[in-house]
Amino acid sequence: MGNLWAWTGDPDAAVAAGRPGLVLGSHLDSVPDGGAFDGPLGVVSAFAALDLLRENDFKPSRPIGIACFGDEEGARFGIACAGSRMLTGVLDADRARGLRDAGGVSMAEAMAAGGHDPRHLGRDDETLRRVGTFVELHVEQGRALVDVDAPVGVASSIWPHGRWRLDLTGRADHAGTTRLEDREDPMLRLAAAITTAREAARRHGTVATVGKVRVEPNGVNAIPSGVTAWLDARGADADAVRAVVAEVSGAVGTDAVEESWTASTDLDAGLRHRLASLLGDVPVLATGAGHDAGILSAAGVPTAMLFVRNPTGISHSPAEHADEDDCLAGVRALARAVEELA
Ligand SMILES: [Zn+2]
Repeated sequence: MGNLWAWTGDPDAAVAAGRPGLVLGSHLDSVPDGGAFDGPLGVVSAFAALDLLRENDFKPSRPIGIACFGDEEGARFGIACAGSRMLTGVLDADRARGLRDAGGVSMAEAMAAGGHDPRHLGRDDETLRRVGTFVELHVEQGRALVDVDAPVGVASSIWPHGRWRLDLTGRADHAGTTRLEDREDPMLRLAAAITTAREAARRHGTVATVGKVRVEPNGVNAIPSGVTAWLDARGADADAVRAVVAEVSGAVGTDAVEESWTASTDLDAGLRHRLASLLGDVPVLATGAGHDAGILSAAGVPTAMLFVRNPTGISHSPAEHADEDDCLAGVRALARAVEELA
C-alpha cells in the first residue's frame, strides 16, 4: 500500500502477548506546491522523540512503531489518505487499482512501474493488529493555537469532509465567430458552481472550495467542450456539508459524483483527556483537515493527535511554517506521550 513501518521490539510478539504496540507517525507526501511541515513534521518528530527517550534511558513496556502512510493528500489519484484507507479496507482494492492520475496512468500501473505487485492491495489485518494505539503529531493548519498562545495542542475531532466531481459538458466552438446566444459554454456553469459553493458554505456555516479544474480543450480561443471541477466541502455538521453539495449540484444541473467521504471522527476521548492533562492542560481543538489518524480511529484503533503551532495558520502552501522552538516543544510532548502510553 506504500505505507512504511519501522519498529523497535517485536510487534508480533506483543500482539501474541495481548499488548500490541504504540505507533507514532504521519506522512511524507504533499499537495502540489505544498509546504514542508504538513506530514513530515510528524514523521521526523516521531524519530526525534524516540532519540530523546533513548537519551533518557527510557525502557518501553511495549514495542514502538513509526509509520509513514502513503498518498495521504491524494494529490495524484484523488483519494486522500489512500494508504491508511487501503490498510483498513475502507478503500476497496479494486477501486484503488483502477484510480487514474491526470495522465491516465492507473494506480496499478504506477505500482507495477515502482516494483510493487498491485495484487497485494487490500485490508491488512496482520499489520493493523500490531497498532494498539496511534498518535499522530501534525503542524496545525489554522490559527487556533496562535490565538491562545500555546505551542502544542491536542485534537478532539476531525470534521466530516468529502470530495465531489462535477462533469460539465458543453460544445466546443470558435471564440470569435460563435454568437453568444448560440454557445453551450460549460465554463459559465463552473462559475455558478464556484459562487454557489462559496455562498452556500457561508449560509450553512461550513467551508467549500473548488481548487482543481480540468478544461477541454483548454485553448484561449476555444469555447470549452467540457469542464471537470472538484469540490472539497467540510464542516462540523455533516448535514450542512451535504446541503452545500446539493446546492452546488442544483446550480449546475448535474449530479456531483462523490469521490470520497469521511464522516465526523471523534478521536478517543479517554486518550485525549489523558494527553491534554499530561501535557499541562494544553488546548483541545477540532480540525477541518483529514488525517490518517482519523482513518485509524474510525477503524477502531485508539488514536490521538498533537498539533504544533503554525504562526500564520497557512498550510498547503510553501508559506506553511512552525518555529523551531515549537517543533521542539512538539517533540517533547510526543516523548511525554510515549512515556505515558508505552
Ligand atoms: Zn497532513
